[in-house]
Amino acid sequence: MSQKEEAGEILPESLKDWLRDPQEQDRVYPKNKKIEIVFLIEAVNAILPRTEGVEDITLIKLPGTEYEVPVILPEKLQAVARRRMLAHLRRFRDANPEELKKHLEKLVNMYKIKAKKKGKEVEMPVSFIKAKQILDNPEQWNCYIQPPGGDISKATDVGMDAYCPACALFGTVITDETLEIRDTEKNRNIFAESVGVKSRVEFDPAFAIMDQEKSVASYTHNKVSDGVSWTGKSLYEEKHVVPGTIFVGKVTLEDVTEAELKGFLATLATLDRLGGRERLFGTIRVHLAGIRGGSYETVSALELARKLASKFGDRLYPPSVDEVLNELNKILVGSGDARFTPISTSEFKKLAENMETWDNLWKDTVEYDKQIVYRILKLIRGEEKIT
Ligand SMILES: [Zn+2]
Repeated sequence: MSQKEEAGEILPESLKDWLRDPQEQDRVYPKNKKIEIVFLIEAVNAILPRTEGVEDITLIKLPGTEYEVPVILPEKLQAVARRRMLAHLRRFRDANPEELKKHLEKLVNMYKIKAKKKGKEVEMPVSFIKAKQILDNPEQWNCYIQPPGGDISKATDVGMDAYCPACALFGTVITDETLEIRDTEKNRNIFAESVGVKSRVEFDPAFAIMDQEKSVASYTHNKVSDGVSWTGKSLYEEKHVVPGTIFVGKVTLEDVTEAELKGFLATLATLDRLGGRERLFGTIRVHLAGIRGGSYETVSALELARKLASKFGDRLYPPSVDEVLNELNKILVGSGDARFTPISTSEFKKLAENMETWDNLWKDTVEYDKQIVYRILKLIRGEEKIT
C-alpha cells in the first residue's frame, strides 16, 4: 500500500481544512490553521525532568485540587522532539543520500539577485551555505543544537544549517553564516542580516496526574569502585519521577502541511528518552490520544491534568496507561464542539520507519525555505531584483 492510501486511515478527514498546501503562494504567512495534539507520557524508568542545572524537579499545585505534581517544561519537550526529528533525518540521509542531494540542490540554486556593477548587469546567486558546502557529499549533511558556550553571541545557531525540516519547524536563525548572496566578482557574501524563523511547534508543559507523594522519590546512589568494597563519601541522593508516573501533554502545530504533520507525529510517537542523565534514566513512552484542527486552541494540558487528577489522584496505586487513555479520550471526544479524533501511536511509529515520510518532509521544507528566503530578499532588495 502506498503512503497516500495509508494517509486517509491514519489522519482523520476533519484535519484536511486545517493543513496548509505546500505550494501556496503566501505559505509563510500565518493563517491560524492550528492542529492540537493531546498525548500521555509514561515514565518507564525513573526520570529527571529538569531543564538545566542541578536543581530538583519542577512541581506545581494543580488548581482546584489538593495535588502538587511534577511538570515537564515546554522547552525540554521542544528540545527532545527536535533532537529526535534530527535523528530520523540522519537515518534518511544514510539510507538515501542521493535523494537528499536532490533537495539540497534546490537550496543551493534558489534565486539570483540582479544588480548593476559599473553599468554592467550582474547576477548574484542566492544559496544556503551549509547546503552548498556539502552538495557533492550529501552523506555529510548534519544539523545539531549547540549548547551555549563561551561566545554567547553565537550560542545556539553554530551547528544549525537553518534550512532542514527541524529548523523550518522548530525555528532557527538565518544569518550570513547560513545564507549568502554571492558577489561573484568580489568573491564575497553580501548578505548581512539576521532573521529569525519562528517555531511552529508550541508545547504546553506536561503535568503528572498523581501527587508528588506518589510520583516523586529520592533515590540514593552509590559510586562503587571495582575491586574494593569501599563506598566512602560516595553516597548521594537525587530526586526522580518514579516509574509508572503518567503525564498529560498537549502540543499545537501552526500552519503545517500534511507531510510536516506526519513527520512531527512520527517524531512524537517515537520519543523514548527524556530528562537528565538520559543514558541511565529517562526511558519514557509516548501514547498519542487525540487530534483536532481549528483556528483557535480548545484545551490545555493543565485543565486535562486537573480533570485526570480529580479522577485518579486518590488512588493508592497509579492507574494503568490504558485506563488513563480511556478517560482522556472520553474527556476529549465529549467536550462540546472540540471534536478531537483518537489517533494511533503504533501507526505513526510505523510511519517513522518509512523513508518516504522523511523524503516528503524534505520536499515541503524546501518549498517553505524558498518562500522564507524570497520574503527576506524582497524586503532587503525589492521583488523586481529577484529572478
Ligand atoms: Zn536544521
